[in-house]
Amino acid sequence: MSLPFTSFNDVRPEVAAFESYEPGLSIAEIAEKYGLPRVIKMASNENPLGVSPAVRQALERSAGEAFRYPQSGNPRLVKALAALYGVDAGRIFVGNGSDEIIDLLFRVRAVPGVHNAVAFRPCFGLYPTQARMAGVELRQAPLKADFSFDFDALLHLVDENTTLVIVTSPDNPSGRAASPDELEALARALPPACLLVVDEAYIEFAGPEYSLLPRLERLPNVALMRTFSKVYALAGLRIGYAILPPAIADYMWRVRLPFSLNILAEEAAVAALADTEFRERTVELVRRGRARLTEELRAMGCEVPPSMSNFIMFRLPEGGVDAKTLHGELLRRGIIIRALGGYHLPQWLRVSVGTDEENELFLCFVREILGA
Ligand SMILES: *Cc1c(COP(=O)(O)O)cnc(C)c1O
Repeated sequence: MSLPFTSFNDVRPEVAAFESYEPGLSIAEIAEKYGLPRVIKMASNENPLGVSPAVRQALERSAGEAFRYPQSGNPRLVKALAALYGVDAGRIFVGNGSDEIIDLLFRVRAVPGVHNAVAFRPCFGLYPTQARMAGVELRQAPLKADFSFDFDALLHLVDENTTLVIVTSPDNPSGRAASPDELEALARALPPACLLVVDEAYIEFAGPEYSLLPRLERLPNVALMRTFSKVYALAGLRIGYAILPPAIADYMWRVRLPFSLNILAEEAAVAALADTEFRERTVELVRRGRARLTEELRAMGCEVPPSMSNFIMFRLPEGGVDAKTLHGELLRRGIIIRALGGYHLPQWLRVSVGTDEENELFLCFVREILGA
């Protein structure tokens, strides 16, 4: 087959169609633009408590190891994860954020131009981009109008060439969690060649009863994906993990770039797993904060789907200030939240739960801007 390249600047068609990822606005950017001494970021679902002291110590202790390559296969981290979550180490895979895991799942589980993957719409932005990069069709079933999961619509898109189904629970951006019974029913209804991947990035904020982890033994076609970016407060170090069918875990390890998880990230992750107190404090703070934010925004007339996560999504009452205006006015006051245009939800906004003080400041500014 001849390739339609005529210039050294030509790229694969999948690449030519790419637009750059639009991350949440940065604190430095907004501080400079509006001349603000303090900017609060409630846009990327990071942990409001910051780095835990135990993790900071581990990082300082291991700084001198930075000249070494990490141990291939990150065995210390794999072992610690296996012990904490009570699963066989042969099922565990770790990567440079869930982002790397998502990317590899498409490339490992789907033949370009032959297989397809299925997810909901809207969904986490990395699913469509990495599917596209892998040359894999991503079919999307719309969520219901209230952002709950339409598993019938999802199943409807699955055919004999579907090798991946991805469901996020709790979901981003809605915060809704799927019922584990429904997820189990979905797993059982899939054709034999299909792997159900449940992205449990936010599962700790919902609670263990929402996870499929205790059911994995009887659901061989289910994989769970998790991250250190949220409850473990390590978004900047890029650490994700997955609990996979053992054969898939083995292949993922074979193709992963050998040192994608760096040596400091591994040290930090091991320390974070041992820091139960920090994790519990985070979950407690987030649950309290999201109840408060939900209640207060609803009292101002906003629509707020029930969130089981560390963020909430909301829509302003009709006829008043619109989402874009509120977003901009909050920026001017030094609070960054997420506009959801990228999710094709221009009327909706998403705010990450902050510290109690940050939440109150946010609510105070929203009240002021809405004139409520
Ligand atoms: C934040 C998030 C992740 C975590 O991604 P990392 O690459 O591990 O930081 C995964 N899935 C969803 C849906 C998320 O919102």
